[in-house]
Amino acid sequence: MKVVQVKCPQCGLPIQTKVLDQLFYCESCHTLHSRNGGVNIVPYEIADVRPDLKGQATYYPFWRVFCTVNITNSNVAGGTLYKLSKYMQGGGNTGSLNVFVPAAEMDIGTSKQLAMSLTYEPPRYRPRMDFGGRERLGTNITKEEAADVADFVIVTMEAEKPGVLQSLTYDLKVNDIKLIYLPYSSAPGLVPAW
Ligand SMILES: [Zn+2]
Repeated sequence: MKVVQVKCPQCGLPIQTKVLDQLFYCESCHTLHSRNGGVNIVPYEIADVRPDLKGQATYYPFWRVFCTVNITNSNVAGGTLYKLSKYMQGGGNTGSLNVFVPAAEMDIGTSKQLAMSLTYEPPRYRPRMDFGGRERLGTNITKEEAADVADFVIVTMEAEKPGVLQSLTYDLKVNDIKLIYLPYSSAPGLVPAW
């Protein structure tokens, strides 16, 4: 296994990681940074596990893409959008939402299911400062790629109800992207642990 050694851009201490990860986490000052196309500090949050959790939890990274959707044209049988209408204020054509993009490597079915459920029902958690010694998964989707995936999540979410959506045209503006680590317990399947 390749061991990468880099220096933390914040405190200068070396970061050693054996995890195959696009991002580097400094154990001393808790700074997260990326190195593709230059050194960039990545804003992030870590969700605390719920106090009554039994057993282990693993941290999964998600890009939380805060975007504004402006629908320019939609043709929906029955007249209303399936899920996007929830975000459109006062029945207008514009709304903002947080789209969750799974950033760890996983099968497409799980990724899609997590993206849709977290986007539709955003997780509520107490943030914590560190991982508390828990395992975390590496990130293999970059921040830049996350914006494209967010677009895909919105379309998929809207097209989930078959035969209803005829056409949809919209502009997507990405306002902010942050990495969110959410804990999941592993047995059996992925169970939210926050
Ligand atoms: Zn540091």
